[in-house]
Amino acid sequence: MRRQFKCLSFVSFVSLLVYVIHFSKNHNFVSHETRGDQQARFNRFGKERSISAEELRRETEQSCVFPVHSQSLLPCQQNNLRQTRRIIYESLPWLDLERTLNAAVTLSPGGYHQPVGCASPQRLAIIIPYRDREVNLKILLNNLHRVLQKQQAEYAIFVVEQENGTPFNRGMIKNIGYLEAKALCHFDCFTFHDVDLVTESERNTYFCGEKALHHSQKLDFLDYRTWYGNHFGGVVTFNKTYFSTINGYPNLFFMWGGEDDDLIHRLQKKQMPYEHSKYPRYTALTHKKDPHHTRQEMAVYRTSRERFGKDGLNSMERLYRLISVEKRPLYTRIYVSVNQTEVLTRLKHFGIDL
Ligand code: UDP
Ligand code: MN
Repeated sequence: MRRQFKCLSFVSFVSLLVYVIHFSKNHNFVSHETRGDQQARFNRFGKERSISAEELRRETEQSCVFPVHSQSLLPCQQNNLRQTRRIIYESLPWLDLERTLNAAVTLSPGGYHQPVGCASPQRLAIIIPYRDREVNLKILLNNLHRVLQKQQAEYAIFVVEQENGTPFNRGMIKNIGYLEAKALCHFDCFTFHDVDLVTESERNTYFCGEKALHHSQKLDFLDYRTWYGNHFGGVVTFNKTYFSTINGYPNLFFMWGGEDDDLIHRLQKKQMPYEHSKYPRYTALTHKKDPHHTRQEMAVYRTSRERFGKDGLNSMERLYRLISVEKRPLYTRIYVSVNQTEVLTRLKHFGIDL
């Protein structure tokens, strides 16, 4: 009896020990992903935080490839921002561009900037889907770095470039940008930014709130009229929780810009609202025109509701290969190869044979 009792106590003790170890593990070592999603850093809406700012800063420094500083500073102010700014159209050679932007002083390699003397309310990832638009890219960088620095933003610019040989897949490229940027540092906000759109106002800030934000509602070549209701292309900003809740962009559109219209269904499905920037004027830069949508792509678009939960951030495996990640003076280049065969196979599952 006594022996049995001893044995039982030993077993209970071991179970208790296992439980305690398990409990402390789960609570002390929350994954970056989980904590990142639970916790908005310096939320500009002043929401309660589950961990202290100091703790979060320490964690961020450890997990960020950019040299983030952690001084306790006063929050940056967005003062003296001009409503209308002059766009710079000059396309300089790279070295001259780096010199005019004073890259060595204002930027860390990879196109990362942190304001001096104050703390930016959020850290922003600017993601530019890209292929073969070098002139546009130079002009955009020349304008965007100036605007973001004037706004006292802490940010990094990512240019996500798709390798030649497969049709351009903007939705997938944007998802890759989001995932790879997240793997490099903790970001609060993600802006997806077409390479050929330049903001006309310094007051059009890229900070994120609870809703998604559509920046580029009014374009110069349309005389600043709204293009069509629910137009959600061009330049948009999400907070990270929002973007993962809608499962990101669809991956199955080639060529045509259907990925942004498809996204509207995702917002509607989740009843997640979006708002427009109060300074929505953008100038579009010129470029050669790509072939536009075809009937087949309309077919992809029609499967939107079916694909919502299955095609997006949660289905990236086998869709792409990361060729290289390179910190250039003005941006981080993420160079990828898209698996067209896999996209076509998946489309077949949705009854689409392209
Ligand atoms: N894009 C690119 N290379 C391409 C096609 C598209 O870099 O060959 C990117 C780029 O960011 C561009 C965006 O996708 O601004 C939108 O494509 P595009 O400008 O062709 O669309 P549209 O002018 O019809 O809106
Ligand atoms: Mn364009």
